[in-house]
Amino acid sequence: MKVLVLNAGSSSQKSCLYDLNGSLPIDPPDPVWEAQIDWTVQPGKAVLKVKANGTRLESTIESTDRATDTLQMLKTLSEGKTKVIQQTGDVDIVGHRIVHGGQHYRQSVRIDQTVKATIADLARFAPLHNPANLQGIEAIEQSLGGVPQVAVFDTAFHATLPPAASIYPIPYEWYEKGVQRYGFHGISHQYCANRAAQLLGRELIDLKLVTCHLGNGCSLAAVQDGQSIDTTMGFTPLEGLMMGSRSGSVDPGVVLYLMREGNYTINEIEQILNKKSGLLGISGISSDLRQVVSSQTERSARAIDTYIHRLRSGIGSMLANLGGLDAIVFTAGVGENSALIRSRTCEAFRWLGVEIDSEKNQSSPIDQDISARSSKARILVIHTQEDWAIAQECWKLSHSRSS
Ligand code: ADP
Repeated sequence: MKVLVLNAGSSSQKSCLYDLNGSLPIDPPDPVWEAQIDWTVQPGKAVLKVKANGTRLESTIESTDRATDTLQMLKTLSEGKTKVIQQTGDVDIVGHRIVHGGQHYRQSVRIDQTVKATIADLARFAPLHNPANLQGIEAIEQSLGGVPQVAVFDTAFHATLPPAASIYPIPYEWYEKGVQRYGFHGISHQYCANRAAQLLGRELIDLKLVTCHLGNGCSLAAVQDGQSIDTTMGFTPLEGLMMGSRSGSVDPGVVLYLMREGNYTINEIEQILNKKSGLLGISGISSDLRQVVSSQTERSARAIDTYIHRLRSGIGSMLANLGGLDAIVFTAGVGENSALIRSRTCEAFRWLGVEIDSEKNQSSPIDQDISARSSKARILVIHTQEDWAIAQECWKLSHSRSS
């Protein structure tokens, strides 16, 4: 079964193809084809990168619109040195990462006109992402005709949040109109929770986990009985932890003050909180943790200290509602690669019996347990595989329909 995955962001489009035979493999397989379009490099141009058959291609193309560029990317599936299928019609199913599923979608669904209309409607909550996701769906309709398409939502895993965790303490009518905590990075948190159970040789239903997705965007989830019961992102991916260039939670009074006293417009404040805050905002150096660490300035040290302070506080708040802990899971760019962040974060929980093995922590562990033998909870580093998680959803949905 050939499963194509599309992951459309606000300024890039990533895609990959999995070739699955027989049953689903236990360990994530490598895709047979990977491609990416980046629209940030130059106005009117797009950089297209493709990897397949041991070949890597990179070209700058004239960018007309996102849909046309996406079609050009898909042509490399069946043409040239990166050809992996005879014709695009050989693709059996296409899975899309959809950022916002609102209150409607608790799990993945086959895409039809109603689903498309709902995704379009939910663009009011995710104005940068849902329209890009829709364009991806439409590009597939144009190039692959009636191939089955599946929407996998980044909010769906958190649809199990109890009302106490999803309601904001603001007038209740707003909640009824959809202003609530949705949570994001759900595909990654769910994948990591499942993978953690696999690596620990335990049933997910029996585990209490805190999953830490620390990339450019950062969020935590508390996972109990296989379900998300709390998470740090909320109505938008701006809430919660301090991130690369996003502030995470700040006193809403700060925003009111800046608007009243600083004459900032809504757009300016949105830009500042999303693009000029976080590690970048405090350090003044970069949103990339590696550069912040290596710059060794006083402000960089403050940025890292604040990042860790907030991460520890976030984990503490997840633990408060879990009522126990079997494992802390670190994932995404920072979580998978920064031994410093992992060790300084876990230090705070030594009194709970959480102990890291410093040698294992330094050894570039991937899908490994880095806790000391005497630790009362495991500490896992898991390579998040959102594309593989989407492909698995497609596989499961198509098999549940045909059975
Ligand atoms: P995204 O959230 O966009 O998917 P990633 O998960 O790829 O991002 O994470 C990107 C971040 O990971 C970078 O900004 C960088 O701060 C961090 N990162 C990547 N490699 C390392 C490393 N070796 N050490 C520390 N941080 C790293």
